Amino acid sequence: MHIAIIGAGIAGLSCAQELKLAGHRVSVFEKSRGVAGRMCTRKTAEWECDHGAQYFTARDPAFIAQVDRWLAEEAVALWNPTIAIYQDKQWTKPHTELNRYVGTPHMNSAAKSLAASLSIHTEHTVERIEFNEQRWSLSTKEHGALADRFDAVILAIPAPQAQQLLQEMDTPLNVIANSAQMLGCWTMMLNFADKLNVSFDAAFINQGKLSWIANNNSKPQRSGLPTWLVHANSAWSQENIELEPAEAADVLIEAFAELTNARPVNHTIHRWRYASTLNNLDLEFGMDSDKRLGLCGDWLNGGRVEGAWLSGYKLAQQFR
Ligand SMILES: Cc1cc2nc3c(=O)[nH]c(=O)nc-3n(C[C@H](O)[C@H](O)[C@H](O)COP(=O)(O)OP(=O)(O)OC[C@H]3O[C@@H](n4cnc5c(N)ncnc54)[C@H](O)[C@@H]3O)c2cc1C
Repeated sequence: MHIAIIGAGIAGLSCAQELKLAGHRVSVFEKSRGVAGRMCTRKTAEWECDHGAQYFTARDPAFIAQVDRWLAEEAVALWNPTIAIYQDKQWTKPHTELNRYVGTPHMNSAAKSLAASLSIHTEHTVERIEFNEQRWSLSTKEHGALADRFDAVILAIPAPQAQQLLQEMDTPLNVIANSAQMLGCWTMMLNFADKLNVSFDAAFINQGKLSWIANNNSKPQRSGLPTWLVHANSAWSQENIELEPAEAADVLIEAFAELTNARPVNHTIHRWRYASTLNNLDLEFGMDSDKRLGLCGDWLNGGRVEGAWLSGYKLAQQFR
């Protein structure tokens, strides 16, 4: 079969890789300029910062095997941060130790390694999918209607974006896409002239507006100005998702300064509209066998990088 995958995040790429191994021809369409989706890194001449996924863990044997392949290629490495927890105005340490992995040299390196052997069409925002005479056709914002016809289509994109493509289609996948509610996340990247005087590399913040702060330079193979990443929590982010970026930045810089006594020399803000899922569906994936139409992504499988990778991997097994 010739299968179109929409979205080159970790779910779309794991699905594509597995379909290719099964002997299918696979074409991946991605709206951005690069692959990795929410496993991404912002890079400038002076600094870099992972501003989506911060690290990932591995529990399922299939995903552990993938992590081992990445480790062998040096596309990921273990990150051993000193972690703190801030709650009830007190700093404590977590009780459990986890193996935390990050892409190297950047968070997107793991996705890039999967993409290397695949046919990826970046800057292709799919706006319309149509099923006619048992074949699929796609239209993109940048290139209009594509000449190729496909035997199957897989949507490896967040639920609200899948809803848009499915809304006029008669398929049970509509109900699935409509039932997931995704939440935003305001994210800040803060540059400092010097290292901060704090006793941790990263911290879970369980009160106030923030949820996580991390010293990006504490990750393996990172370089550039001392840079900290700040995530606002999903409740505050969702309530304030339409704030002007400058207003959100003022609030979050203040919240960071209250915790660390440090103020950045420079800052960059990013609004994720679809960062996490309020109600993870735990369906693993969605499949309309009559139309050969599939859905995969973190929101169908417990959230997070491992869930996304497994969602794509397990959906691909349906085409064996
Ligand atoms: C702020 C933040 C912090 C996080 N922290 C962690 C963490 O610490 N640990 C962890 O495990 N997970 C974390 N996550 C979650 C993790 O990043 C995701 O679970 C995972 O990356 C999702 O992968 P995905 O392939 O399902 O979706 P995505 O990565 O969102 O990939 C979807 C892709 O589809 C593309 N796309 C969308 N619509 C279209 C279209 N119409 N046409 C073409 N392309 C399209 C997008 O550009 C994107 O590249 C975090 C996420 C965020 C945002």
